[in-house]
Amino acid sequence: MIPIVDMKSQLRCIESEVRTAIDDVLDSGWFIMGKQLKAFEEEFAAYLGVRYCVGVGSGTEAIHLALWALGIGPGHEVITVPNTCVPTLCGITQTGATPVLVDVAESTLTMDPDQLETAITDQTKAIVPVHLYGHPCDMDPILAVARSRGLAVVEDCAQAHGAEYRGIRCGGFGDVAAFSFYPSKNLGALGDGGAVVTNDEGLANECRMLRNYGEERRYYHTRPGVNSRLDEMQASILRVKLRHLDEWNDARRERAARYAQQLASAPVTVPYEAPWARHNYHLYPVRSPERDALQAHLKDRGVGTLIHYPIPIHLQQAFAGLGLEAGRFPVAEAACNEVLSLPMYPTLPLEDVDRVAEAVAAFTHG
Ligand SMILES: *Cc1c(COP(=O)(O)O)cnc(C)c1O
Repeated sequence: MIPIVDMKSQLRCIESEVRTAIDDVLDSGWFIMGKQLKAFEEEFAAYLGVRYCVGVGSGTEAIHLALWALGIGPGHEVITVPNTCVPTLCGITQTGATPVLVDVAESTLTMDPDQLETAITDQTKAIVPVHLYGHPCDMDPILAVARSRGLAVVEDCAQAHGAEYRGIRCGGFGDVAAFSFYPSKNLGALGDGGAVVTNDEGLANECRMLRNYGEERRYYHTRPGVNSRLDEMQASILRVKLRHLDEWNDARRERAARYAQQLASAPVTVPYEAPWARHNYHLYPVRSPERDALQAHLKDRGVGTLIHYPIPIHLQQAFAGLGLEAGRFPVAEAACNEVLSLPMYPTLPLEDVDRVAEAVAAFTHG
């Protein structure tokens, strides 16, 4: 069986570094809000080229805290896309704001900037573009609309560690960005974790306060916050993994290039990479009009696959209240019916890429 992702083999490559990092935390006897977190926040901010990083409990919480720090709450609207991971929406609804969806561009499957104007109302406060699969959104036109309409931009970077838009790493384009360190992400902890990053000192301070019960300084709470912190153990492990992120993203890109080459005449569409984009290939979704049959075919041949994502947000029971019917977002809906993620991870053997590609090429219709 070739799995879709193999976190064990990746961990094996850095096992001694990770064990040393864990031992350091054990020896320190300090587990929450200590020097590992501070060091990771500085190192990750430097990696991204942003001024501030605030470690939090998860990617979902990072989105929630970023919007909360911007003052977004009940009565406000926040625009995002239908073909994202549900937590993007959970981060929005946790503030009390109402999510508004716009369709995506056919090529990149990320937010279509041309759809934004008609979705904006007097209640709109922010736009949350999602760098889906590790392909950056077309940020310039999104930022232009946001600026002209006075809206905040919160990048969902949960899949975009190290991905670049016009030569600059994702995370510093909007007012604030949210990262997830869920174990299978390109930069993943050994548990839950996330971060808010920004160039705005006021927003960074606000997030620091909100993640820690609203505490401004010891025992002085300016307003009630939440408990959403990145612990010392995860921070120390993330510091180790951050040192390998570029090399791992390069390895993913090498495997993506090999897939694209091997699948050139196969009955699927391979992922698109815009000329202005540097994809980090968090995922490698191909498209097929007979996706379910292709998935069964690959399963029979020992190839693990997953669908990211089979049900668009507006057709999830949780968001039925938005009152958005099927057919409303044709590009996103078609993608949900056709995408199939092939095995992709930095330690995926190149021979396995070839074997997967052969299995895909052997798929015949009907
Ligand atoms: C993983 C993910 C999240 C949520 O991150 P968690 O750390 O699991 O809360 C949000 N948005 C996208 C696009 C994701 O892929």
